[in-house]
Amino acid sequence: MSNAYAKLKSHLRQVAVVESIASVLGYDERTVMPTNAAGTRAEQLSFIAELAHQRFIDPRVGELLAEAEAQTPREPADGDEQANLREWRRAYDRAVKLPADFVAELVKTTSLAEHAWAEARKQSSFAMFLPWLEKIVALKRREASYVGYATGNPYDALLDSYEPGETSAHLGRVFSALRARLVELLGRIVASGRKAPVELLGRCFPVSQQAQFARAAAEALGFDFASGRIDVSVHPFCSGIGPGDTRMTTRYHERHFNDAFFGVLHETGHALYEQGLPKDERFGEPLAEAVSLGIHESQSRLWENLVGRSAAFWRFMFPKAVAAFPEALGDVAPRDWLFAINDVRPSFIRVEADELTYNLHIMLRFELEQALVRGDVAPRDVAGEWNNCFKSHFGLDVPSDAQGCLQDVHWSAGLIGYFPTYALGNLYAAQFFEQARQDLGDLDAMFARGEFAPLLSWLREKVHQHGRRYRAADLVQRITGRPLDPEPLLRHLSDKARAYYGV
Ligand code: ZN
Repeated sequence: MSNAYAKLKSHLRQVAVVESIASVLGYDERTVMPTNAAGTRAEQLSFIAELAHQRFIDPRVGELLAEAEAQTPREPADGDEQANLREWRRAYDRAVKLPADFVAELVKTTSLAEHAWAEARKQSSFAMFLPWLEKIVALKRREASYVGYATGNPYDALLDSYEPGETSAHLGRVFSALRARLVELLGRIVASGRKAPVELLGRCFPVSQQAQFARAAAEALGFDFASGRIDVSVHPFCSGIGPGDTRMTTRYHERHFNDAFFGVLHETGHALYEQGLPKDERFGEPLAEAVSLGIHESQSRLWENLVGRSAAFWRFMFPKAVAAFPEALGDVAPRDWLFAINDVRPSFIRVEADELTYNLHIMLRFELEQALVRGDVAPRDVAGEWNNCFKSHFGLDVPSDAQGCLQDVHWSAGLIGYFPTYALGNLYAAQFFEQARQDLGDLDAMFARGEFAPLLSWLREKVHQHGRRYRAADLVQRITGRPLDPEPLLRHLSDKARAYYGV
């Protein structure tokens, strides 16, 4: 290890420490902070964010990076120091390309825009949000031009910050192969005339039992409560704060089983990834961080959907569910329960969508965002474009802006280029899961016995322990021997359509 590398590593560990302080403040804000502390907290958070940013873009970091690169052999490309230097270089170059006044303007605009969006959504008025959308799209186009893009598509400069190395051309090919077959499968499901007994999910599930039941499920899957916890917040999330501290949240509704339970399985998937990263030894290094948002999402979707909605999982869990909720589930046949939690139908809201139609929601956003960033669609035309696309993809007329283009917080927060990582997560999850089945044998028999450790160990070995050593495309190739492939997800969804809808 060169002297410059050692200095760089210790400097950037301090940046990670500062960022972890911000995570604690953010977690506190969304779980237990008194409302009147909002002003104080905003000041604390912006102070800490500024501190971390200044330390990171310090010219000394650039000098140490250049020295360390000169002193470190290029091979092996995936060696510890090589991978860390590659990722530090990427993050540093991106950060220093953005002028300080631009960053400040973006932070200020998006924090005001989020409030405006919340109000516009409440009133279901796209016109109210439009001035903010115009500002944000203009800022994000500027960001793309500062960062630069070799592909000719400015959207790629934005996508790259969430999914390093991914391009819109590649995603476009994968998504269009997927879309035609999803639409066709959805058509057959709707035409089958079978309807899942979703009313079962709206029976009374007392909150205290839900909390115990969800906690027991997280523990069974392998979440380490000595290094983490579950709290309540309005919007569920998971925060990998630092070594020994991974926290997640959920929300409970007495008459809505899915929200809390599948929310906890989802966040547990994120949390198991965070707990599996080698943070104890490497905190502050890219080798202790997730590959990308898409890979992070693959872990949550894998546990939530591939495991948590499977018949085998419920062979283990259903008797426990009946014991926890005797009044709601005492008279329910396991098969009806499984059908209810595997319901597929076209609907307006992305976050409530099923495993199949979810991907169509993402594709609509992916196309619209690209058109916005390229300037092919003007912000004022977004609502109309949205409704047209929705009609052609889902066959439904959008009844209001709140149920249409105003439903998600992302654009108001400046998160353009983020949506595709959700669908990538579904694709990676299915592809990893097929491989795990091949490598581990009868996973269903294991799940039915409540044995999840073999799958978790497999994920630890194949994905978690590597941190950011490999880019997502390299990782999927290494693990499955193939590039990203929509077939495993299509097989999974087709198998379910056959089992539940007979098509
Ligand atoms: Zn997630």
